[in-house]
Amino acid sequence: MTDIQDYKFWFVTGSQFLYGPEVLKQVEEDSKKIIEKLNESGNLPYPIEFKTVGVTAENITETMKEANYDDSIAGVITWAHTFSPAKNWIRGTQLLNKPLLHLATQMLNDIPYDTIDFDYMNLNQSAHGDREYAFINARLRVNNKIIFGHWSDEAVQVQIGNWMDVAVAYEESFKIKVVTFADKMRNVAVTDGDKIEAQIKFGWTVDYWGVGDLVEYVNAVDGTKIDDLYVKLQDQYEFVAGQNEPEKYEHNVKYQLREYLGIKAFLTDKGYSAFTTNFEDLVGLEQLPGLAAQLLMADGFGFAGEGDWKTAALTRLLKIVSHNQATAFMEDYTLDLRQGHEAILGSHMLEVDPTIASDKPRVEVHPLGIGGKEDPARLVFSGRTGDAVDVTISDFGDEFKLISYDVTGNKPEAETPYLPVAKQLWTPKAGLKAGAEGWLTVGGGHHTTLSFSVDSEQLTDLANLFGVTYVDIK
Ligand code: MN
Repeated sequence: MTDIQDYKFWFVTGSQFLYGPEVLKQVEEDSKKIIEKLNESGNLPYPIEFKTVGVTAENITETMKEANYDDSIAGVITWAHTFSPAKNWIRGTQLLNKPLLHLATQMLNDIPYDTIDFDYMNLNQSAHGDREYAFINARLRVNNKIIFGHWSDEAVQVQIGNWMDVAVAYEESFKIKVVTFADKMRNVAVTDGDKIEAQIKFGWTVDYWGVGDLVEYVNAVDGTKIDDLYVKLQDQYEFVAGQNEPEKYEHNVKYQLREYLGIKAFLTDKGYSAFTTNFEDLVGLEQLPGLAAQLLMADGFGFAGEGDWKTAALTRLLKIVSHNQATAFMEDYTLDLRQGHEAILGSHMLEVDPTIASDKPRVEVHPLGIGGKEDPARLVFSGRTGDAVDVTISDFGDEFKLISYDVTGNKPEAETPYLPVAKQLWTPKAGLKAGAEGWLTVGGGHHTTLSFSVDSEQLTDLANLFGVTYVDIK
């Protein structure tokens, strides 16, 4: 349930009949040329298709209605090549319920001083045509995306591509189904919330299933599939038995593979793309899913621990935005407060997503002093360096807030021989002190999604689409 369908985007160019049929023909040809170049650029994750030149309220309204019920369309891109009286756009824009990008561009990237005349001006009125069009979107409070610049500029193309990823994630968000195996951790506040409101705002379905239903799937996994996977994974990961007897190591790793295949079969059969576990309720399971959860995150499933369905769904959502690149469930673990070293060490009991690994993960088996179960197998690795965002959603009763800050990711300064889990270090770009004070003041939780592939502009766009408050801590 982690595949994304083939989406495309429609391009609708604003114009009017005032300048005659020749100009309209040119508007269409120019639009198609721009689209062709954009599609060839390699900077767009999804294709653009020319739809129509919007010249009347009737044809614009029909186009938007069509976009609404065509499931292959993830959004509409508009541009005013000539002047395009914006009253013509009111009804269609009101009816459109998909992401809208206003690409404020111009056919040429310069002013042709030697040849410019009134025919040129009639055809190329984007400078004021885009203002007329943008006004009505602002008046309608559409919260559409605006990207300004020449269409051939690579930075503009990348910005369009980033917006496309957000638009697709928005469409896909209404299909995200989260299963919580057991409920959330007892007495914990920040990971709780209003599931009905989450479905209204974000489209997420959140279902509870008893662990017993999962245990049936886990116990039913064919042993030969586990044996095959045990061999196959040795190409990808380093198997380190360490202090364990070889038989125990193999048994405990294979049990995690049984959990992986069992959970995956459960999720796939029932259409879930995200899940949570809770160490307080593992009746019938030998181990807390560690390696199992990590392999599922690598497959693109959303996950969070302790029944935190908000972060599980958020992680799935941002994995869609990022094409499952370097996007991980995370928890603030411990702090380095020394001057010059200021950082947060992030990790979890076991379940850190290997898409952020910078070295070859090791499969290790160690005791876990919580949950009262067998020693769980887990992937151990170091996180990576680079620019990232750390993101969470908190429920304040009357609203959800999407909260984040920009961070710099780093590898831990040293090994932690007595904490055998995967780890990631990061420092808020605002500084640890200002960043942490901002985070604590707004009420952001300890479970987050850390992504090296999503930026704060995309988070702004997501929050606008969902109509929720975005707090970007600077
Ligand atoms: Mn946790």
